[in-house]
Amino acid sequence: MRSPFVYDTRELGRRPGSMREDHLDVPAPAGWELGLVKVPAGAPVVIEARFESVMEGVLVTATAEVPISAECGRCLDPIETSVSVPVQELFAYEPDPEDDEAPTLTGDQLDLEPVVRDAVVLALPLNPLCDPDCEGLCPGCGARLADVEPDHAHDEIDPRWAALALLKDSNAGSDPEEK
Ligand SMILES: [Zn+2]
Ligand SMILES: [Zn+2]
Repeated sequence: MRSPFVYDTRELGRRPGSMREDHLDVPAPAGWELGLVKVPAGAPVVIEARFESVMEGVLVTATAEVPISAECGRCLDPIETSVSVPVQELFAYEPDPEDDEAPTLTGDQLDLEPVVRDAVVLALPLNPLCDPDCEGLCPGCGARLADVEPDHAHDEIDPRWAALALLKDSNAGSDPEEK
């Protein structure tokens, strides 16, 4: 069975100037991720694409709307959001002898998966926040500052928590129990 990311350009034809627009609803493959930020496997990816026949091949201009899941870099809360990623790629009719990675049509078919994946991985947020104003965690006890009373305070800051809060701020992936 061919990948749902494979698009058949037969109806587009090879006459430069012809154009088709299409909409693809495809499940995200596993492995679209960067650190703790990822596209859940099987999540719906919506691609709005324009296919244009040009001299050398087929030019694809698309927008991929992709769900992502992550953890807030400050308070570690789970985040479910989505990114909209622009994609543009020329799929050549003939393989490029200088560059065997260059996207090429296979017969009339082109595979959008590698180009969409590369664009999505580049667009994933490096340090996502649950809210731009997320206050993060209390350096005194590790509680989410959004959840505590406004006058929440500690007489003495436990140095272990202070160190941990700094660590969490610099690395959202750290496990508090990790030794
Ligand atoms: Zn947060
Ligand atoms: Zn506290």
